[in-house]
Amino acid sequence: IVILGIETSCDDTAAAIVRSDGEILSQVVSSQEELLARYGGVAPKMAAEAHSLVIDQVVKQALENANMEENDLSAVAVTIGPGLSLCLGVGVRKARQVAGKFTLPIIGIHHMEAHALVARLVEKELKFPFLVLLISGGHNLLILARDLGHYVQLGTTIDDAIGEAYDKIARWLGLDMRKGGGAALEELAHEGDSDSIKFSVPMKQHKDCNFSYAGLKTQVRLAIESSNINMSDPISSASCLDRASRANIAASFQRVAVLHLEERCERAVKWALNIEPSIKHLVVSGGVASNQYVRTRLDHVARKNDLQLVCPPPSLCTDNGVMIAWTGIEHFRLGRFEIPPPACEPKDSVLDLRPRWPLGEEYSEGRSTSR
Ligand code: ATP
Ligand code: FE
Repeated sequence: IVILGIETSCDDTAAAIVRSDGEILSQVVSSQEELLARYGGVAPKMAAEAHSLVIDQVVKQALENANMEENDLSAVAVTIGPGLSLCLGVGVRKARQVAGKFTLPIIGIHHMEAHALVARLVEKELKFPFLVLLISGGHNLLILARDLGHYVQLGTTIDDAIGEAYDKIARWLGLDMRKGGGAALEELAHEGDSDSIKFSVPMKQHKDCNFSYAGLKTQVRLAIESSNINMSDPISSASCLDRASRANIAASFQRVAVLHLEERCERAVKWALNIEPSIKHLVVSGGVASNQYVRTRLDHVARKNDLQLVCPPPSLCTDNGVMIAWTGIEHFRLGRFEIPPPACEPKDSVLDLRPRWPLGEEYSEGRSTSR
């Protein structure tokens, strides 16, 4: 099986071709970091236009790099949600076009399922069931993956995701957003003292597996602003700070942000083992999982609980086409795909966009979940 994966759910336009033995035949990503840096966030219409500008080239490049043509493919996989519908639409239209030529099957992919399952491409020993922590720009999820397509959501964020907090704080600290706020903040944090400012760990009193980053973000904003009482917005306050003070803020934030992940993971391991005593792995994926400090700390949590950490390399943690193609392969193997009729109207069900699309059923402690 050889599958082309297309990803346009947010700010990266990505395509990749992957074979069912796990060989990555090509991988192309075009990111909108310049746009993001300039406008401070993703504006759906602008992002969709940026995808439209590059999508043909990205897919063409993916085929060329793999030395393939459309009819060498077994199927086309494309993200249909969750994400910005204007952006998702660009990828889906392209997938239709590529598949339409030779009536190839199309597989609609859940972006967060793909972040999780790409770990099975990386680690061939990774069998269901396993525990997954997904940390990215829009999500904070703790998922028990019981089987392909069978997920139990142990925890989610009640407000912001950790990646969003990294991005916002990096912007306040005036960091170079072109390489990505998260990466810039991680770099600065290396120079700082993580014990210099005592931020409090979110949701201590809630004995569940949910996350919250809005309050921590506010704590950081106040710390920046109190450094200069004459200015009431964080960006101009931070501009008065020397690099060492900014590094201290970055390091102190990072320590507590990740401590929150560790605490929730510890509890999730216990919940997960209650439901599936045979789990052996903790998967950590999504953009924030490319952070080295995050990886080290969660490796520690995994070891402490006799689990093995599986964390994809950074290029497969941030948005990419490989994870979409690979998840396509997982579904294709089980016959979960559809062949859209040729020249179909954009109304058929296979490719209905799902901008909001939860991954799996919710779990509350004490309630039994059976297959
Ligand atoms: P989602 O997957 O929730 O739809 P997304 O697709 O936009 O969101 P990803 O590409 O998976 O997000 O991840 C991007 C996020 O990862 C950004 O918030 C970015 O700041 C963060 N990130 C990337 N590298 C690092 C790093 N080294 N440290 C911390 N955060 C990072
Ligand atoms: Fe993502």
